[in-house]
Amino acid sequence: MHIDHIGIAVKNIDEAVKTYEKILNTKCTKREVVESEKVDTAFFQTGESKVELLGGTAPDSVINTYIEKRGEGIHHVAFEVDDIEAELARLKSEGFTLLNESPKDGADNKLVAFLHPKENHGVLVELCQSKK
Ligand code: ZN
Repeated sequence: MHIDHIGIAVKNIDEAVKTYEKILNTKCTKREVVESEKVDTAFFQTGESKVELLGGTAPDSVINTYIEKRGEGIHHVAFEVDDIEAELARLKSEGFTLLNESPKDGADNKLVAFLHPKENHGVLVELCQSKK
């Protein structure tokens, strides 16, 4: 397992891309809208891991709901796993609350699933697996 990316919720993704291009002194490597989630994403490669900026594409997007409640900032930490189905089954048996019983399509050609922050000391954890 390694950290695949850190997800950051932002109000204005175009502005945030410019900011992170300055911070990281590198260009955004990928922009992608995930229609099913009403989320616009922008990725920056930072060594082995990435930064994922997340902006809502509609007022009822989970990202906009999140920002209304908690403001902009770190939204989730994503760990890459080899077998997401097996990891979900393992974590469920350990008593973790799965927000997704089975993996769904995410950005960046990944299958993704989330664990509820309540058992993770307040951190929304994403598991992801590259699609073969
Ligand atoms: Zn993510």
